[in-house]
Amino acid sequence: MSTAVACELTIPEAPSEELRRRAWEAREALGDQLIVLGHHYQKDEVIEFADVTGDSFKLAKLGAEAEAELVLFLGVYFMAESADVLARPGQTVVLPDLSAGCHLAECADIYTVRDAWEQISGALPGKRIIPLTYMNSDAVLKAFCGENGGAVCTSGNARTVFEWALAEGDAIFFFPDEHLGRNIACDMGFEDASLPVWNPRLAELGGARRELLADAPVILWKGFCNVHTNFTAEQVKRHREDHPGVRVIVHPECPRPTVLAADESGSTEYIIRRCNELPAGSTISIGTDLNLVYRLRDAHPAKTIFPMLDTICPCVTMNRIDLPKLTGCLEALESGGLPNVVSVDEEVAEWARVALDRMLALG
Ligand code: SF4
Repeated sequence: MSTAVACELTIPEAPSEELRRRAWEAREALGDQLIVLGHHYQKDEVIEFADVTGDSFKLAKLGAEAEAELVLFLGVYFMAESADVLARPGQTVVLPDLSAGCHLAECADIYTVRDAWEQISGALPGKRIIPLTYMNSDAVLKAFCGENGGAVCTSGNARTVFEWALAEGDAIFFFPDEHLGRNIACDMGFEDASLPVWNPRLAELGGARRELLADAPVILWKGFCNVHTNFTAEQVKRHREDHPGVRVIVHPECPRPTVLAADESGSTEYIIRRCNELPAGSTISIGTDLNLVYRLRDAHPAKTIFPMLDTICPCVTMNRIDLPKLTGCLEALESGGLPNVVSVDEEVAEWARVALDRMLALG
């Protein structure tokens, strides 16, 4: 693989069955040189090629632990970046569509976060603010947290990381997901009204009141996932009326009223586990991406599993990864080419690893 060279991705046009056959041929020819990582929200037509499925952090770690020199990520850009940050020397990460971004991650960029950080530091002299970023963020924001005494968190460990940060400092500056930050802070017992929201579009202190900032345990960033923000408390109420006995489980990227109205909330891995644990005959309504919900429905025929809202699109950017692009990638890799390489600047990667390591140290 040392002779592999960067190349353009050619997307083949052919009927699906032919693409599927070609993709499997290329996959088999690549053997152990390649590991394919598949995020839970990916479509069926590509997830069947995944060697492992999981959430973004679990996949990035598994990629780094694999012997393979090539890591093909079926997911979105920040996930492939995280895989590259954690990759062993000599591993190369590719993403079948470099335009597969994440709306939530794109709600925060390094320029507006730095500006906010300077304003917050100026407004709160003497206070130690700990910057925390959600896994769903650019590598450069993870690096920012690493450089400034902060860490990364996932939806599964956010509470542990928040508790660590409040033991380390006086307050948390959390980006980019307002809803996740509010859900965690409120679950920890903080009043919703004590949590200022920093809007990067507003020049003066992000629209936050100075006196609220001064006593805030957590400063939230005005960002959201455009899938999870669609689930509402009203829908939960309707589901309970239409399906007596239904168990409603939502992702913590949903707004606070939705989480409060639901029976449970948790990460994708949590949702999958609960669908396994709940007894046969259960009726379960799930507020997360449709691709995952429909796979869970098919995997549990003895339970009634359905999406909380079936009129929304699955995550649009996740769905940019499709069979033609995957086939093009696999065929290029088999021929010794390296299409769509995701490579994080080494200094950024080093600081991002510091932030990730702080999270990992918390167990
Ligand atoms: S579901 Fe939301 S958080 Fe996940 S990739 Fe799509 S936009 Fe980003």
